[in-house]
Amino acid sequence: MTKTLNAVITGSTSGIGLGIAKSFAAEGWNIMLNGFGDTDEIEQIRSTLAEEHNITVLYSGADMTKPTEITAMIEEAQEAFGQVDVLVNNAGIQFVSPVEDFPEGKFDAIIAINLVSAFHTTKAVFAGMKERGYGRIINVASAHGLVASPFKSAYVAAKHGVVGLTKTVALEGAEYGVTCNAICPGYVKTPLVEKQIPDTAKARGMSEEEVVQKVILEAQPTKKFVTVEQIGALAVFLCSENGAQITGAAHQIDGGWVAK
Ligand code: NAD
Repeated sequence: MTKTLNAVITGSTSGIGLGIAKSFAAEGWNIMLNGFGDTDEIEQIRSTLAEEHNITVLYSGADMTKPTEITAMIEEAQEAFGQVDVLVNNAGIQFVSPVEDFPEGKFDAIIAINLVSAFHTTKAVFAGMKERGYGRIINVASAHGLVASPFKSAYVAAKHGVVGLTKTVALEGAEYGVTCNAICPGYVKTPLVEKQIPDTAKARGMSEEEVVQKVILEAQPTKKFVTVEQIGALAVFLCSENGAQITGAAHQIDGGWVAK
């Protein structure tokens, strides 16, 4: 695609969001990064992407639990770029615990970051996308948007919600050139997965190595982690003109996990 697009990617200072940002940068698209982390490291990511690809890369530290900060982030991107063509709702957290012990605050935070923030960002970009007759909204859900695992009640609830939001937004955008899709990755080796290994080990009474082999890679028939580059390539395709008729779908990229 030759057209320069302007994209906002939530949770793009790390992992999958950063992988998608790198894939978009390689296409020459302008990007607003978002997420938490070390200020110097984020600035390094921002300036390197901008210089290597000769694009505009902005950063917003908006907290995805705070609707006013989310709206301000989208307004900032709209002002700087003129318009937002692509929105990737990717920010997410995980917490693993049996339901009877699940802390209320953690449940609420997962729903806010993994699900509700996607409503606020979508609401803020949608009218403009419809008016211009082009828009791409990509929600990074999960295999857990389609199937469940024990001890992940909040995450599975949020991700199933994201798939539902995706379908509704797709229907509302369908006649206006605005598509909305969910990407449902299996396990990707990012900090989010690395951090849950000790808790899963505790909840299941296993060693950490057993969790990687018997829980994580056991779920994926290919026995390999999905890579951020593979997810970035799928996101780029969904933004292309050839992606125009792909909407309201939940795209599994999970090594065959959900096929079982
Ligand atoms: P990650 O921990 O590497 O990245 C998460 C990103 O979200 C970071 O940039 C972080 O700063 C940001 N973030 C967290 N809380 C935030 C908040 N309140 N406001 C703004 N930003 C916030 O994790 P990841 O594995 O790259 O996960 C990204 C997305 O992919 C998540 O939605 C996750 O559920 C989903 N996912 C991950 C996997 C996997 O195996 N890693 C599988 C399926 C789906």
